[in-house]
Amino acid sequence: MITADFHTHTSFSTDSKASPESMIERAIVLGLKTYCITDHMDYFFPEHNDEGFTEFVFNPDQYFETLTALKKKYRGKLDLRIGIELGLRDEPDARDENKKLCEKLVNNYPFDFVIGSTHVIDHFDPYNRECWGGRSAEDIVQMYYDSVLYSVRNYDCFNVYGHLDYIIRYIPEGVTVDLTKFDPIIDTILKELIARGKGIEVNTSRLFRGTKTNPSPDILARYRAFGGTTLTIGSDAHKPEQVAGAFEKACEMLKELGFKEYSVFKNGKESRRKL
Ligand SMILES: [Zn+2]
Ligand SMILES: [Zn+2]
Repeated sequence: MITADFHTHTSFSTDSKASPESMIERAIVLGLKTYCITDHMDYFFPEHNDEGFTEFVFNPDQYFETLTALKKKYRGKLDLRIGIELGLRDEPDARDENKKLCEKLVNNYPFDFVIGSTHVIDHFDPYNRECWGGRSAEDIVQMYYDSVLYSVRNYDCFNVYGHLDYIIRYIPEGVTVDLTKFDPIIDTILKELIARGKGIEVNTSRLFRGTKTNPSPDILARYRAFGGTTLTIGSDAHKPEQVAGAFEKACEMLKELGFKEYSVFKNGKESRRKL
Protein backbone atom coordinates (compact mmCIF):
# COMPACT_ATOMS: atom_id res chain seq x y z
CA MET A 1 0.00 0.00 0.00
CA ILE A 2 1.27 3.46 -0.86
CA THR A 3 0.74 5.88 2.04
CA ALA A 4 2.87 8.79 0.81
CA ASP A 5 2.18 11.16 -2.08
CA PHE A 6 5.45 12.83 -3.07
CA HIS A 7 4.44 15.06 -5.98
CA THR A 8 1.63 17.53 -5.33
CA HIS A 9 0.88 21.18 -6.01
CA THR A 10 -1.00 24.06 -4.39
CA SER A 11 -1.79 27.64 -5.31
CA PHE A 12 1.91 28.45 -4.84
CA SER A 13 2.11 26.96 -8.35
CA THR A 14 0.90 29.09 -11.26
CA ASP A 15 -1.23 26.21 -12.57
CA SER A 16 -3.10 25.37 -9.33
CA LYS A 17 -5.84 27.18 -7.46
CA ALA A 18 -5.97 24.73 -4.54
CA SER A 19 -5.20 25.91 -1.01
CA PRO A 20 -2.59 23.79 0.79
CA GLU A 21 -5.21 22.98 3.47
CA SER A 22 -7.69 21.62 0.90
CA MET A 23 -5.02 19.26 -0.46
CA ILE A 24 -3.83 18.14 2.99
CA GLU A 25 -7.37 17.52 4.20
CA ARG A 26 -8.08 15.35 1.17
CA ALA A 27 -4.88 13.38 1.89
CA ILE A 28 -6.04 12.80 5.48
CA VAL A 29 -9.47 11.57 4.27
CA LEU A 30 -7.70 9.12 1.95
CA GLY A 31 -5.62 7.75 4.83
CA LEU A 32 -2.21 8.94 3.63
CA LYS A 33 0.44 9.09 6.36
CA THR A 34 2.88 11.38 4.60
CA TYR A 35 2.23 14.16 2.14
CA CYS A 36 4.83 16.18 0.31
CA ILE A 37 3.97 19.48 -1.37
CA THR A 38 6.25 20.09 -4.35
CA ASP A 39 5.30 23.39 -5.95
CA HIS A 40 6.73 24.53 -9.26
CA MET A 41 9.82 26.69 -9.48
CA ASP A 42 10.66 27.17 -13.15
CA TYR A 43 12.97 30.14 -13.57
CA PHE A 44 12.76 31.87 -16.97
CA PHE A 45 9.56 30.09 -17.90
CA PRO A 46 8.37 31.24 -21.34
CA GLU A 47 5.05 33.12 -21.28
CA HIS A 48 2.14 30.75 -21.66
CA ASN A 49 0.12 32.30 -24.47
CA ASP A 50 -3.01 30.20 -24.60
CA GLU A 51 -3.87 30.37 -20.91
CA GLY A 52 -2.09 33.51 -19.94
CA PHE A 53 0.23 31.83 -17.43
CA THR A 54 3.10 33.85 -16.11
CA GLU A 55 6.33 32.54 -14.68
CA PHE A 56 6.20 29.47 -12.45
CA VAL A 57 8.03 31.14 -9.57
CA PHE A 58 6.97 31.44 -5.92
CA ASN A 59 8.30 33.32 -2.91
CA PRO A 60 10.26 30.75 -0.88
CA ASP A 61 10.00 32.71 2.41
CA GLN A 62 6.22 32.77 2.14
CA TYR A 63 6.20 29.12 1.09
CA PHE A 64 8.17 27.98 4.14
CA GLU A 65 6.24 30.21 6.49
CA THR A 66 2.89 28.83 5.30
CA LEU A 67 3.89 25.18 5.06
CA THR A 68 5.84 25.15 8.35
CA ALA A 69 2.72 26.43 10.13
CA LEU A 70 0.67 23.70 8.42
CA LYS A 71 3.19 21.04 9.47
CA LYS A 72 2.43 22.02 13.07
CA LYS A 73 -1.31 22.35 12.52
CA TYR A 74 -1.65 18.82 11.12
CA ARG A 75 0.89 17.09 13.38
CA GLY A 76 -0.54 13.77 14.59
CA LYS A 77 -2.89 13.57 11.60
CA LEU A 78 -0.46 13.74 8.72
CA ASP A 79 3.28 14.12 8.33
CA LEU A 80 3.66 17.08 5.98
CA ARG A 81 6.92 17.40 4.05
CA ILE A 82 8.09 20.50 2.21
CA GLY A 83 9.36 19.80 -1.27
CA ILE A 84 9.74 21.50 -4.61
CA GLU A 85 9.59 20.67 -8.31
CA LEU A 86 12.53 22.46 -9.89
CA GLY A 87 12.59 23.14 -13.62
CA LEU A 88 15.99 22.12 -15.00
CA ARG A 89 17.23 23.68 -18.24
CA ASP A 90 19.87 23.02 -20.87
CA GLU A 91 19.64 26.00 -23.24
CA PRO A 92 23.10 27.62 -23.49
CA ASP A 93 21.69 31.07 -22.65
CA ALA A 94 19.67 29.88 -19.62
CA ARG A 95 21.38 26.84 -18.11
CA ASP A 96 24.17 28.45 -16.10
CA GLU A 97 21.99 31.12 -14.54
CA ASN A 98 19.22 28.58 -13.91
CA LYS A 99 21.67 26.20 -12.25
CA LYS A 100 23.00 28.98 -10.03
CA LEU A 101 19.48 29.98 -8.93
CA CYS A 102 18.40 26.36 -8.33
CA GLU A 103 21.47 25.56 -6.24
CA LYS A 104 21.16 28.76 -4.24
CA LEU A 105 17.53 28.01 -3.46
CA VAL A 106 18.14 24.40 -2.43
CA ASN A 107 21.16 25.40 -0.32
CA ASN A 108 19.34 28.25 1.42
CA TYR A 109 16.06 26.52 2.31
CA PRO A 110 15.56 23.24 4.21
CA PHE A 111 13.61 21.32 1.60
CA ASP A 112 12.72 17.75 2.55
CA PHE A 113 12.63 16.67 -1.07
CA VAL A 114 13.49 18.02 -4.52
CA ILE A 115 12.11 16.80 -7.84
CA GLY A 116 14.09 17.81 -10.92
CA SER A 117 11.91 18.13 -14.01
CA THR A 118 12.29 19.18 -17.62
CA HIS A 119 9.31 21.32 -18.59
CA VAL A 120 10.93 23.63 -21.12
CA ILE A 121 13.06 22.77 -24.15
CA ASP A 122 14.65 25.37 -26.41
CA HIS A 123 12.58 28.06 -24.65
CA PHE A 124 9.26 26.45 -25.40
CA ASP A 125 6.81 24.48 -23.34
CA PRO A 126 5.80 21.28 -25.16
CA TYR A 127 2.46 21.48 -23.34
CA ASN A 128 1.69 24.32 -25.71
CA ARG A 129 0.38 22.75 -28.94
CA GLU A 130 1.62 25.59 -31.14
CA CYS A 131 5.17 24.65 -30.27
CA TRP A 132 4.90 21.39 -32.18
CA GLY A 133 4.69 23.17 -35.53
CA GLY A 134 7.79 23.82 -37.62
CA ARG A 135 9.85 20.85 -36.36
CA SER A 136 9.29 17.13 -36.61
CA ALA A 137 7.80 15.50 -33.52
CA GLU A 138 10.74 13.12 -33.53
CA ASP A 139 13.19 16.05 -33.32
CA ILE A 140 11.25 17.53 -30.40
CA VAL A 141 11.26 14.21 -28.50
CA GLN A 142 15.02 13.93 -29.16
CA MET A 143 15.58 17.49 -27.90
CA TYR A 144 13.64 16.67 -24.76
CA TYR A 145 15.73 13.59 -23.92
CA ASP A 146 18.97 15.43 -24.79
CA SER A 147 17.88 18.13 -22.35
CA VAL A 148 17.11 15.57 -19.61
CA LEU A 149 20.49 13.91 -20.09
CA TYR A 150 22.23 17.29 -19.89
CA SER A 151 20.41 18.10 -16.65
CA VAL A 152 21.14 14.72 -15.08
CA ARG A 153 24.84 15.20 -15.84
CA ASN A 154 25.05 18.84 -14.76
CA TYR A 155 22.64 19.41 -11.87
CA ASP A 156 23.15 17.86 -8.46
CA CYS A 157 20.43 19.73 -6.54
CA PHE A 158 17.60 17.18 -6.84
CA ASN A 159 16.65 13.81 -5.35
CA VAL A 160 14.57 12.24 -8.13
CA TYR A 161 13.84 13.05 -11.76
CA GLY A 162 10.18 13.91 -12.39
CA HIS A 163 7.92 12.20 -14.97
CA LEU A 164 10.87 10.97 -17.03
CA ASP A 165 9.03 10.41 -20.34
CA TYR A 166 6.88 13.55 -19.87
CA ILE A 167 7.30 14.58 -23.52
CA ILE A 168 5.19 11.69 -24.85
CA ARG A 169 2.14 13.18 -23.13
CA TYR A 170 2.18 16.03 -25.61
CA ILE A 171 2.89 14.40 -28.97
CA PRO A 172 0.00 15.76 -31.04
CA GLU A 173 -2.83 13.37 -31.86
CA GLY A 174 -2.44 11.66 -35.21
CA VAL A 175 1.36 12.03 -35.17
CA THR A 176 3.22 8.73 -34.94
CA VAL A 177 6.69 8.64 -33.42
CA ASP A 178 8.69 5.41 -33.10
CA LEU A 179 9.49 5.72 -29.41
CA THR A 180 11.78 2.65 -29.36
CA LYS A 181 14.34 4.92 -31.08
CA PHE A 182 14.78 6.69 -27.76
CA ASP A 183 15.39 3.58 -25.66
CA PRO A 184 19.20 3.96 -25.81
CA ILE A 185 19.21 7.56 -24.53
CA ILE A 186 16.60 6.72 -21.86
CA ASP A 187 18.81 3.83 -20.72
CA THR A 188 21.80 6.18 -20.54
CA ILE A 189 19.73 8.62 -18.45
CA LEU A 190 18.64 5.82 -16.09
CA LYS A 191 22.20 4.55 -15.65
CA GLU A 192 23.53 8.08 -15.04
CA LEU A 193 20.87 8.69 -12.40
CA ILE A 194 21.71 5.44 -10.62
CA ALA A 195 25.47 6.17 -10.76
CA ARG A 196 24.87 9.62 -9.24
CA GLY A 197 22.70 8.30 -6.40
CA LYS A 198 19.53 9.86 -7.80
CA GLY A 199 16.14 8.25 -8.24
CA ILE A 200 13.08 8.61 -10.39
CA GLU A 201 9.45 9.12 -9.58
CA VAL A 202 6.42 7.17 -10.68
CA ASN A 203 4.02 9.91 -11.72
CA THR A 204 0.44 8.61 -11.68
CA SER A 205 -1.39 11.62 -13.12
CA ARG A 206 -1.86 9.98 -16.54
CA LEU A 207 -2.64 6.56 -15.06
CA PHE A 208 -5.40 8.35 -13.14
CA ARG A 209 -6.68 9.70 -16.48
CA GLY A 210 -6.69 6.24 -18.03
CA THR A 211 -3.32 5.88 -19.77
CA LYS A 212 0.06 4.96 -18.25
CA THR A 213 2.37 6.15 -15.54
CA ASN A 214 5.25 8.49 -16.44
CA PRO A 215 7.64 6.89 -16.94
CA SER A 216 5.85 3.96 -18.55
CA PRO A 217 6.13 0.46 -17.04
CA ASP A 218 8.72 -0.69 -19.62
CA ILE A 219 11.09 2.12 -18.54
CA LEU A 220 10.47 1.27 -14.88
CA ALA A 221 11.34 -2.37 -15.63
CA ARG A 222 14.63 -1.29 -17.22
CA TYR A 223 15.40 1.00 -14.27
CA ARG A 224 14.99 -1.99 -11.97
CA ALA A 225 17.10 -4.23 -14.24
CA PHE A 226 19.93 -1.65 -14.11
CA GLY A 227 19.82 -1.75 -10.31
CA GLY A 228 17.64 1.31 -9.69
CA THR A 229 15.84 1.20 -6.36
CA THR A 230 15.05 4.82 -5.44
CA LEU A 231 11.47 5.37 -6.50
CA THR A 232 9.02 7.94 -5.15
CA ILE A 233 5.32 7.89 -6.00
CA GLY A 234 3.50 11.09 -6.88
CA SER A 235 0.03 11.95 -8.14
CA ASP A 236 1.07 15.39 -9.46
CA ALA A 237 -2.26 16.54 -8.02
CA HIS A 238 -3.18 20.15 -8.76
CA LYS A 239 -6.68 19.73 -7.23
CA PRO A 240 -7.85 17.87 -4.09
CA GLU A 241 -9.71 15.22 -6.10
CA GLN A 242 -6.45 14.22 -7.79
CA VAL A 243 -4.54 13.46 -4.57
CA ALA A 244 -3.13 9.89 -4.55
CA GLY A 245 -4.81 9.30 -7.93
CA ALA A 246 -4.53 5.68 -9.18
CA PHE A 247 -2.17 4.74 -6.32
CA GLU A 248 -3.70 1.25 -5.96
CA LYS A 249 -3.20 0.52 -9.66
CA ALA A 250 0.35 1.89 -9.50
CA CYS A 251 1.10 -0.29 -6.47
CA GLU A 252 -0.07 -3.43 -8.30
CA MET A 253 1.92 -2.50 -11.39
CA LEU A 254 5.12 -1.93 -9.40
CA LYS A 255 4.73 -5.26 -7.57
CA GLU A 256 4.25 -7.01 -10.91
CA LEU A 257 7.51 -5.45 -12.08
CA GLY A 258 9.24 -6.88 -9.01
CA PHE A 259 9.55 -3.73 -6.88
CA LYS A 260 8.99 -4.34 -3.17
CA GLU A 261 9.55 -0.87 -1.74
CA TYR A 262 9.18 2.81 -2.56
CA SER A 263 11.03 5.83 -1.20
CA VAL A 264 10.14 8.81 0.93
CA PHE A 265 12.36 11.76 1.84
CA LYS A 266 12.81 13.91 4.93
CA ASN A 267 15.47 16.65 5.17
CA GLY A 268 16.85 15.32 1.88
CA LYS A 269 17.39 11.85 3.37
CA GLU A 270 15.77 8.80 1.84
CA SER A 271 13.95 6.02 3.64
CA ARG A 272 11.95 3.10 2.27
CA ARG A 273 8.46 1.80 2.79
CA LYS A 274 6.86 -1.48 1.75
CA LEU A 275 4.59 -1.39 -1.28
ZN1 LIG B 1 6.14 18.52 -13.80
ZN1 LIG C 1 4.20 18.66 -10.99
